[in-house]
Formats: sequence, structure tokens, C-alpha cells
Amino acid sequence: MSDHKKFGLAGVMGWPVSHSRSPTLHNFWIKQYGLTGAYVLLPVEPGHLPAALKGLSALGFAGCNVTIPHKVAAMQLVDRVDPMARRMGAINTIVVEKDGRLSGFNNDGFGYIQSLLDAQPDWRADAGPITVLGAGGAARAVVLSLADRGAKEIRLLNRSLQKAQDLAREFGAPVRAIPWEERHEALADVALLVNTTNQGMAGQSPLDLSLDRLPKHALVSDVIYIPMETPLLAAARQRGNPTVNGLGMLLNQARPAFKAWFGVMPEITPELRRAIEATF
Ligand code: NAP
Repeated sequence: MSDHKKFGLAGVMGWPVSHSRSPTLHNFWIKQYGLTGAYVLLPVEPGHLPAALKGLSALGFAGCNVTIPHKVAAMQLVDRVDPMARRMGAINTIVVEKDGRLSGFNNDGFGYIQSLLDAQPDWRADAGPITVLGAGGAARAVVLSLADRGAKEIRLLNRSLQKAQDLAREFGAPVRAIPWEERHEALADVALLVNTTNQGMAGQSPLDLSLDRLPKHALVSDVIYIPMETPLLAAARQRGNPTVNGLGMLLNQARPAFKAWFGVMPEITPELRRAIEATF
């Protein structure tokens, strides 16, 4: 009997990785859907990544997540990369195919868009201009997925202008790089404001941003999930703007990966949110 086919096995490779919420998330779903399996932490030093990935199939893994610092390096090591992940420049999910080959995906963009739709089911990317702050890894997923959903104008502002300009050049229209100093004015007329910088995260300074120009109906989203309500979201909520925090992105990006490994598209329930929030 081939035990490994009955026992679903997945995990997260990172270094360090002990802080990851992914085991709580996936093991919650394994239990909820009555599956037999486990999702484990896989602390893998950068130098060991090629050997670790090679071992996945032999160990009977259905696949794994990859997180910091492996997201870019792993993309070069898998056999096939999904086109969306290639455009994002990083993978966060690996699926071991039936023949043992590895396919790489990036579900962060899916997770981000889904988190907006969970909050506002009739949300549309083309509802008006969008301002995105930050041009790091999270911004790549957010900007690309917004552009793919039909955003007509994305104002991209980053502390280091060059990175915003590089991203605008790479992704093309509708992305336009704007100097960081103009961030307060860049909120005029927007339908959506997104923070993808680390400012406002626990241990960091709050984002330095005046919301005076922001329309009251604009949706304000922050990809940060610790704390659940960043100073930006608190200020937006107090002036009446609808808000979305980063937890929905974190939870939703995991759903397609779980489906690929365990065969069930899992749902995000209030119980799951409570289980994850209890780990913060
Ligand atoms: P990253 O690649 O290191 O990018 C960090 C960004 O923050 C850059 O744009 C950087 O600007 C900006 N920044 C740093 N210090 C700043 C300051 N003092 N003032 C203004 N901007 C500053 O990080 P990342 O992977 O994109 O992650 C960013 C945030 O997103 C983190 O809080 C992370 O936890 C969160 N995140 C959430 C999810 C989710 O599922 N919800 C997924 C991924 C990431 P420069 O280019 O000028 O340095």
C-alpha cells in the first residue's frame, strides 16, 4: 500500500520559518474537511534549497509554500513556472506533479483581489483611479493583479522613486510612477488606496500620510495584518472610509494551494479567522 498517497503532506519552506501562520491555517482546513494529512514547518537554509526541493517528491509531499528568503530563488529551481508567477518575479506555492516534476505558482494576487471582493462583492478595479504605496514584493502582486482586473489608472508611489519607475516600466500602462513627496495629493479622486509598504506594521512607524484629499467613499486597504488595524486603517475608518486589512489576502492566497495539494477548495469561516487571530 502506498501510504504517502493517502496521507496528504505539505509544508512551508523558509529561513527562519517558525513565525509562519500557514501550519495553523492548513491544519485547520485538514481537520475541518476530515482529511488525513499534515502541513509542517520546513526550516531550510538558503544553501540547502535546491536539495530540499529535489527531496519533495521522494518524501511524498504534495507540495509546499516557499517564503522569505526563498521566493525568488525557488522560481529558478522548479521545472515549470505559472505565467502569472513569472510576471510577479517570485513564487509562493509549489505543486509536485504526478510525474514528480515541480510547478511554481504565486497566489498573492488572487488572495489580494479576493480579499477586496470578500469585503465588497461588487468591487471593480475600473471604478476609478487607484493609488498604491510601496514597490516591494507585495506591491508587485497587488499592482499586477489590479492591472489584470482592468484597473485604468494606478498611481504608484515609493520612497525610492527608481523602484516605482522600474515597476511602471515593467508593467506598462496603466501604472504611473509618482514621487513619494506627492503622496498626499495622489489621493485625490481615488476609488482605492492600498498600502503595501511595511509602515504601520508592528514595530514600524505609522505611514506618514494625510488623508485630507481622499474621497470619503474610497476603499482603503492595507496588506499588513499585524496589527489587524494599522494606524492608516484606523484613521480611514474614523473619517468614514470602508477598509480592508491584510488578513483576507493571507487567508485567500492559501486557498488555491490547499485545493492543489488536498483536492478541496477551502472556505474562510469566522472560526478560521478567530483561530489565526489567536496566533497574533
Ligand atoms: P519589501 O519587498 O521589503 O518592500 C517594503 C516596502 O516598504 C518598499 O516599498 C519600501 O520602500 C517600503 N518602506 C520601507 N520603509 C519605509 C519607510 N520608512 N517609508 C516609506 N516606505 C518604506 O516587503 P514586502 O514583502 O513587499 O512586504 C511589505 C508589507 O506587506 C509587510 O508588512 C508584509 O508583512 C506585508 N505582506 C502581507 C501579505 C499578506 O498576505 N497580507 C503578503 C506579503 C506581504 P523602499 O523601496 O524605498 O525601500
